[in-house]
Amino acid sequence: MDFEEKTITEKTSYVKGLAEGLGLGDSAQDKLIKALIDLVDDMAVEIADLQEELDGLYEELDELEEQVDAVDEDLDELEEYVYDIDDDFDDFDEEDEEDYEDCFDITCPSCGEEFSVDEQTLIDGSVNCPKCNELLTFDFDEDDDEEDED
Ligand SMILES: [Zn+2]
Repeated sequence: MDFEEKTITEKTSYVKGLAEGLGLGDSAQDKLIKALIDLVDDMAVEIADLQEELDGLYEELDELEEQVDAVDEDLDELEEYVYDIDDDFDDFDEEDEEDYEDCFDITCPSCGEEFSVDEQTLIDGSVNCPKCNELLTFDFDEDDDEEDED
């Protein structure tokens, strides 16, 4: 492998090997070389640690990105699902308005009989009690007033 392509750790090992080959002694120059190699060695270890930490962070980032993508997809599905439900509700409401007749519980004031009348009966304004045949009338003045204000 070409020296330039080696990692910092590999280069440091290579330089250390060269220095050992020199048979460095106790001269000021040799001490300087030893100190520099020691420093480079420390820096190489430090940089390798940082690189490892950085790689770990990149891996975590990749995982987070995948998770975000997955959540994004889930949200899309949920959105579709919710819109589908919304459509269903719209359909239901339409059918509901067409088919459903509002019923109102009435208690006859004369005999106490409880029975149900439909909305049209209320609009008509009166109904006969099914038990005692008393004519019951309904007052819609309040609702009429509200409609007039509109
Ligand atoms: Zn009655």
